[in-house]
Amino acid sequence: MKHALPPLPYAYNALEPYIDARTMEIHHTKHHQTYVDKLNAVLEKHPDIAERPVEDLLQNLEQLNLPEPDKKAVRNHGGGHVNHSLFWKIMGSSKEVNQELVHDVDHAYGSLVEFKKQFTDLATTLFGSGWVWLAKDEAGKLHLHQLPNQDSPYLHGHTPIIGLDVWEHAYYLKYQNKRPDYIQAWWSVLKLLP
Ligand code: MN
Repeated sequence: MKHALPPLPYAYNALEPYIDARTMEIHHTKHHQTYVDKLNAVLEKHPDIAERPVEDLLQNLEQLNLPEPDKKAVRNHGGGHVNHSLFWKIMGSSKEVNQELVHDVDHAYGSLVEFKKQFTDLATTLFGSGWVWLAKDEAGKLHLHQLPNQDSPYLHGHTPIIGLDVWEHAYYLKYQNKRPDYIQAWWSVLKLLP
């Protein structure tokens, strides 16, 4: 079965004025779709792993018997697919605060304010294209990651909880080079935290 673009769980304009409808539409129908298409293209050459969940492929990437260029394609496009699939789900037009997560973040970082500061700093200082992540390890401990390109926390054996896309395609139309303004606005549409 081929991987498919998941429908956006809200309208393209649902995150206005923080993220504009045009950016959301291009991001979802062009960028995310391209990751899905390119992932399917590489998996067509490897039917033995084509049915495995992408998370599983990323977690076990080094053990897969793939030529280097195909491994890289799974890392980039498989990562792009799972990263964006999560990104759409954690955003929304109204808050659906996860109290357990609030508690865990408070415990791990001292306060929600301190967590947001550390996360924001990583997102602001990431050079080039990539994502900032809050992820959980196997023991349930929280970790912050600043990862390049479409690298997923799954590559490090961690499960992503919150991810912020700081590729220019995520904000350029509305914010141009002002990445800090986009990051600031994004906290308003991240529905998991107050
Ligand atoms: Mn993106």
